[in-house]
Amino acid sequence: MIKAGIYIHFPFCRAKCIYCDFYSVARQEQLIPRFIEALLNEIEHWPSDISGWQFDTIFFGGGTPSLITPQQLEQILLALSERFDISAVRELTIEANPDSADQDKLHAWRELGVNRLSLGIQSFNDDNLRFLSRIHTAVDSRAAIISAQSAGFEDISCDLIYGLPGQDWEKWRNDLQTVLEFEPTHLSCYTLTVENGTRLHDLVAAGSVLLPSDDEGAELFRRTGEFLTENGYPRYEISNFARPGKECRHNLHYWRIEPYLGFGPSAHGFDGRRRWWNVRNLANYLELVESDQSAIQATEVLTVHEQTNERIGFGLRLAEGFKLSAIPGKLRSKVLQQVQQGAMKWGNYLKLENDCVRLTEKGMLYADAIAVDLQLA
Ligand code: SF4
Repeated sequence: MIKAGIYIHFPFCRAKCIYCDFYSVARQEQLIPRFIEALLNEIEHWPSDISGWQFDTIFFGGGTPSLITPQQLEQILLALSERFDISAVRELTIEANPDSADQDKLHAWRELGVNRLSLGIQSFNDDNLRFLSRIHTAVDSRAAIISAQSAGFEDISCDLIYGLPGQDWEKWRNDLQTVLEFEPTHLSCYTLTVENGTRLHDLVAAGSVLLPSDDEGAELFRRTGEFLTENGYPRYEISNFARPGKECRHNLHYWRIEPYLGFGPSAHGFDGRRRWWNVRNLANYLELVESDQSAIQATEVLTVHEQTNERIGFGLRLAEGFKLSAIPGKLRSKVLQQVQQGAMKWGNYLKLENDCVRLTEKGMLYADAIAVDLQLA
């Protein structure tokens, strides 16, 4: 059986953050019940044969899935269990924002089988939160973590953002030290990136916001890895750190090129060769699903060549790297040649050990550039 995941995209947020390019709509919460109905419909009528897959993860992302009520969550899980065999699911994650993760809801989710919470903390500094236009405060974040722990969540992941204007290592380390006081099992630490189409992009382009230089960003990246490793959270992916054995299984499906289904607007699915994605617009999604049409906007079939390049690109993001034996036979020697040439250029940043190609902690900073050198033309 091939291990696989299920992703549900919940596209509602209370407000849009200035840096965010995930698909979500703000101040349209009145549409949530209608969306849930459409989602149930989409799940129920999922057409493809997925025999041979064994679902071991479910991930509710968004958007702000913590706006889902326990009753709605129960309906979604029921629909999934009626359409798919989810009896082997070992990791059921919900992303939650501190302002919408109250004690009662957390207890109810836990009772419904949610066993992993991913909290969008972003910073423990209220000035930073205001800059990011987050609507919660550091006090809300502390309360949400404590509530989650008392509701019985053992697996708690906290998202943090660094590389903010004027943020040096001392300031960023304060955030890391604060989050470690709560002993989460997993941390996602993302560099603030400027995505096209976001308000942050306009502010940076207008010169109103000055982000750290590349050298400053590299120092933060390096010291973050050192600090978290020293504290028992080794980096297992460029932006992700975990207690051993507490890595996010669902995201590992993506990085290991394993299959997954996706439901909701903008959600992607992948079967190992074919990738498809839903329309990235709530109104279109509702219209299509409510008229019993597929929400899929487009599909691409990856050539063996493209699959290989994806395995290299995603694999180099992971501390475990990728296995040469996973590359189809006729391309393996070519990839080995590229790796050997890459090792001459990148020296200690790139390791080939037995069957495994991986980056060292220092090499992770150059993962994109190294991937380009190793990928097939
Ligand atoms: S809450 Fe999350 S998904 Fe919603 S706008 Fe902010 S960053 Fe994006």
